Amino acid sequence: MIRIAIDGPSGSGKSTLAKAVARELGIIYVDTGALYRTVGYYVFTRGIDPRDELAVKAILPEMHIKLQYGEGGQRVILNGEDLGDKIRLPEMSMYASFVSSLPSVRAFLLEMQKSLARENSVVMDGRDIGTVIIPDADLKIFLTASNETRAHRRTLELKAKGIDVKYEDVLADMIERDNNDKNRDVAPAIAAEDAIIFDNSTKSVEDSVCEIVRLLNERK
Ligand code: C5P
Repeated sequence: MIRIAIDGPSGSGKSTLAKAVARELGIIYVDTGALYRTVGYYVFTRGIDPRDELAVKAILPEMHIKLQYGEGGQRVILNGEDLGDKIRLPEMSMYASFVSSLPSVRAFLLEMQKSLARENSVVMDGRDIGTVIIPDADLKIFLTASNETRAHRRTLELKAKGIDVKYEDVLADMIERDNNDKNRDVAPAIAAEDAIIFDNSTKSVEDSVCEIVRLLNERK
């Protein structure tokens, strides 16, 4: 079994790198942000305030989330519906950030993530993978990149998906989300003590993958 935890703020390049490492090692890539986005999406469709813990907690039992892995990567199925890119809209990022600070939401999603990492070799990315979900991971990476690089990447990513956004709005949203994520009481988005801090602002994906595989072999 191989278990790699990749944490870091939005737009730090986690998903691109985690996907490439998973492909290189022939194991699955688990995008945990998609789970918080799914809860955010459902809260949004129900017209509930994502900061209202009691109201959000009350609707959690209505949500049946399944993750499926195949050729196209991870798919999220909510109550039988494949959500596709609906959870990628900028509003959903903000909803995800708000609901992710609620203890009941984190508890709701905890076991699903832990059991995935127990039963499979995984590269898992998120904010609390090295600290909470896989504290005994073979390798923990905390990715960073400058605010501008991250906002630029995220803008390109959204535009490529046909979502029309402005760089300035993406940057402002990202800074607000980072602050929510870092300063929340439960599972704040911080590096695990034994994580390797990895700045990938200037590295190519190929170089980063080689470096991570080298670090993994060193530790295994
Ligand atoms: O990684 P992504 O941007 O898709 O995550 C969306 C939001 O979900 C983040 O802003 C963060 O608030 C939350 N999240 C989290 N813990 C994780 C993954 C994501 O709190 N493990």
